[in-house]
Formats: sequence, C-alpha cells, structure tokens
Amino acid sequence: MKTCHRFARIKSGFEQDTAFLRNHAERHQGETSAKVSRAQALGSRQRMATALGRHFERCRECG
Ligand SMILES: [Zn+2]
Repeated sequence: MKTCHRFARIKSGFEQDTAFLRNHAERHQGETSAKVSRAQALGSRQRMATALGRHFERCRECG
C-alpha cells in the first residue's frame, strides 16, 4: 500500500494529538482530567481513522 505525503501529515498530526492526550492522562492518573484526556485520545484515534479513510477514497496518489 502506497500513501502520499498528505496522508502521512494527517496521520502524524493525529498521532501527536493522541500522544499528547495520553501523556496528559498518565501524568494526571486518578483525576477527572485524566479521564477526559483518555476519552479525547480515543475520539482522536477514531477521527484519524475517519479522516484517513476519507482521504484514501479521494486521493489519486494513495492506493
Ligand atoms: Zn493521499
């Protein structure tokens, strides 16, 4: 499977986002904000899957 640089950029953006939220959740274990961050990290992963899937369908370079 070949992917273009835009695909990689979308992916790395979401991955940074997810990593940031996960780190936050780890630093604040047991606190409400950790729960929120974990939920947001999951949401971010789902949005990444949606965004990449949509890109993949339309992009001529990917495939
Ligand atoms: Zn692409």
